[in-house]
Amino acid sequence: MALTSPSSKSSSQILTLDPTHPQPPTRHHHHTSSSIPTNLPPAKAIKTHPSTSAEENASVYFVGNATTIIQWHGIRIMTDPNFLHAGDHVHLGPGVTSVRKLNPAVDLEVLPPVDLMLLSHYHEDHFDRHVEASLRRDLPIITTPHAQSILTAKGEDSFTQVAAVDVYNQALVDIKADKTGRRPRLRVTGMPGKHIPMGKPLEKLNEVVGAIPPTNGWMLELGYGNHGGTTADFEPGYRIYISGDTLIFDELKEIPRRYDGQAINLMLVHLGGTTVPSPAMLPLAMMVTMDAKQGVELMRSLGDFQNQVKEAGLDGQVVYLDRGDEYRFYVGGEKV
Ligand SMILES: [Zn+2]
Repeated sequence: MALTSPSSKSSSQILTLDPTHPQPPTRHHHHTSSSIPTNLPPAKAIKTHPSTSAEENASVYFVGNATTIIQWHGIRIMTDPNFLHAGDHVHLGPGVTSVRKLNPAVDLEVLPPVDLMLLSHYHEDHFDRHVEASLRRDLPIITTPHAQSILTAKGEDSFTQVAAVDVYNQALVDIKADKTGRRPRLRVTGMPGKHIPMGKPLEKLNEVVGAIPPTNGWMLELGYGNHGGTTADFEPGYRIYISGDTLIFDELKEIPRRYDGQAINLMLVHLGGTTVPSPAMLPLAMMVTMDAKQGVELMRSLGDFQNQVKEAGLDGQVVYLDRGDEYRFYVGGEKV
């Protein structure tokens, strides 16, 4: 990946991914390249949207928790990697732990090549310690400025290709392709996120100890444009809103306002229902990730998304992915 500074006054950073040189996500694999799986395990179930064109050219594979793998144009994008097993403990803050309930659908060590990671926040529930120790150091990462500052300050163990994308800032990702003209690109925009509710005792604690890190969501747009160009010539063919680890709060209403008149094709909402502190410490407990009720609320606040679902006559069509399931979709815009 090449990380170049913006040449214009645009705040976009430009990254380049090369799918013709696939690399495993972990550094242990480097000397045993023949043993790297070329694909994810077969999906337990393959789901599509009711309006499917039967021309699906992209997919989301659900690993577990907030970990998904998005595949398009020969590249794989991994979100918030947590590959702990059932019963493993996650350290979330001073004296605060959580226990993983279910196994991931696939293990970190047997993943096929991964080209890019989107990390919503630097926190063990979405980025476990084993993953952090195992990942290859040159894996391209897009994350919060907070997480970037940590990942690049680990001395010889630092990650070397980390782009910091703050809320409403953008990174453009060029995907090398053997073709001329319109070429595949990603545009990643930071979306607001809030890990715990305002005014609650834990937030005051958080301010004191810095226990809970700043959290982003992402708008991931898959589309086409001229490589190296500014965001102006990028044309999205599919738009995915990834919630990250957020609760419902007012700033989320800004998202449909910003994308007014533009389709948000897919929303990946993390409904983990994790509590901090542990449920044993109630009534101090509060949700860290959203439960199902708040997920519905978020869909309401994304009114544009819901209206488009309604207009298409698809009201109430929510696809639920179990671990190991895959959702396939069509990214348009390659042919003009
Ligand atoms: Zn978290």
